[in-house]
Amino acid sequence: MPPRHLIIGAGTAGLNCVRTIREEDGGASEITLVAAERPYSRMVLPYYLDRSIAESHVFTATAATLATWKVKTHIGRKAAGLNPQANALTLDDGTTLEYDDCLIATGSRAVKAPVPGADLPGVHSFWTLEQARAVVAGIAPGSHVVMVGAGFIAFTILNSILSLGARLTLVEIAPRILPRMVDDAGAALVETWLKKHGVKILTGATLVRIEEARGKQRLRFKKGPDLLADLLIMATGIKPNLEWLQGSGIRMNHGILVDDHLRASVPNVYAAGDVAEGKDGVTGLPAVHAIEPTAMEHGRVAGANMAGRDVTYRGSLNMNIVEVCRLDVASFGAWDDPNAETFTGLRPERSAYRKLCWSGDRLTGAIIIGQAGDVWTTNDVGMLKGLVQTAVRLGVWKEYLRRNPFDLKPAFIASRATGQLLPQTILGRPSRAPEIPTTVSP
Ligand SMILES: Cc1cc2nc3c(=O)[nH]c(=O)nc-3n(C[C@H](O)[C@H](O)[C@H](O)COP(=O)(O)OP(=O)(O)OC[C@H]3O[C@@H](n4cnc5c(N)ncnc54)[C@H](O)[C@@H]3O)c2cc1C
Repeated sequence: MPPRHLIIGAGTAGLNCVRTIREEDGGASEITLVAAERPYSRMVLPYYLDRSIAESHVFTATAATLATWKVKTHIGRKAAGLNPQANALTLDDGTTLEYDDCLIATGSRAVKAPVPGADLPGVHSFWTLEQARAVVAGIAPGSHVVMVGAGFIAFTILNSILSLGARLTLVEIAPRILPRMVDDAGAALVETWLKKHGVKILTGATLVRIEEARGKQRLRFKKGPDLLADLLIMATGIKPNLEWLQGSGIRMNHGILVDDHLRASVPNVYAAGDVAEGKDGVTGLPAVHAIEPTAMEHGRVAGANMAGRDVTYRGSLNMNIVEVCRLDVASFGAWDDPNAETFTGLRPERSAYRKLCWSGDRLTGAIIIGQAGDVWTTNDVGMLKGLVQTAVRLGVWKEYLRRNPFDLKPAFIASRATGQLLPQTILGRPSRAPEIPTTVSP
């Protein structure tokens, strides 16, 4: 009998797993896909919001593609319970599916701040396609949009809201914006930039209640005047979809704990993406990295292992990269490690900031902020990511970067980080490094 693979979730992690199994086995196994929603990419929803793509372009695998991949589907159905002893999954309609191995890739969902009124129909989240549709329908030129929560997800839709001609106010309970993505100095610079571009920002603002006010939403705060919103979006965090696994015996912390093969505590059950707590490639510690690259890599590695290969995962890189009003804002790795040695550089006149975090002569984390039009900002985002990801020893270049935190290129070239990044794909296959000059000195 061909092996029976069961994939639960059709987001980035689930679909990358399916694709990898098919690349490995050419169609020899049986694959069943269960997903609450039709497969689509959440990451492109901001482009659907600003109308640069049609709704039909958010979908990642059509019924025809899945049929070509010989995948049996249960789309629109939810996994309701897993019984690893019986190798069986129960769906919300009572159907039972048996498997030889399975992948849990049920992602996460948006959570709203726990204040009275948060469940009113006019209070939106922006995480699923259905939620995006409601926001698309609710914004018109001149609308006053209020976003509660000034973190990464809010920032991914900020440009779209402005491009629709809406006025935008950001409300953040922390004393500064982007509290989990950049440090105080970086946040201050981004805040100044956004205010210059017409965004109103309220930090240290504790929302206590939301009321419906003749088709608008009235936000009441612990201190200060009320705000009236035509459209209110709560971008106050996400939570992995784990509840349906209660009683399954699968070990969980913030996410499903997985080993370096993406196996959960039951060996024929794998987990990937937002729902998995896997190895952080910089710290070596278990972490949930709810980002697209981690979901893609987890899905690929789990898929290869489910197809019978023996692929060890190097660990994921914590990273957030976003562009707001033509300002690039990015952080990588352990950028907030209080024990790291750090160098910083600030050029307020160019709205540019760097923070480099070190362990010995290796970069363990970084923040970079700069105007998207500056060539060195765009290039440096990629170079910094490479230096943190490879953890190459920078030797004498460390002192050079202390004096010149804005001049990364020579250190990057000398480090030969590219050569370390490229020799193998994520699935351990050889790849070729391009020719790069290596004859520079500080
Ligand atoms: C607006 C927005 C912008 C983003 N921008 C970026 C970005 O710029 N960069 C970046 O790195 N990341 C970004 N992200 C985050 C990124 O989209 C997620 O990290 C990624 O989608 C995670 O993939 P996943 O496969 O783990 O989960 P998901 O893509 O969430 O997929 C989960 C799947 O599981 C299904 N499911 C859930 N519960 C059940 C159940 N009980 N039974 C069956 N199926 C279930 C869902 O229907 C879905 O098919 C963004 C997210 C949003 C919302």
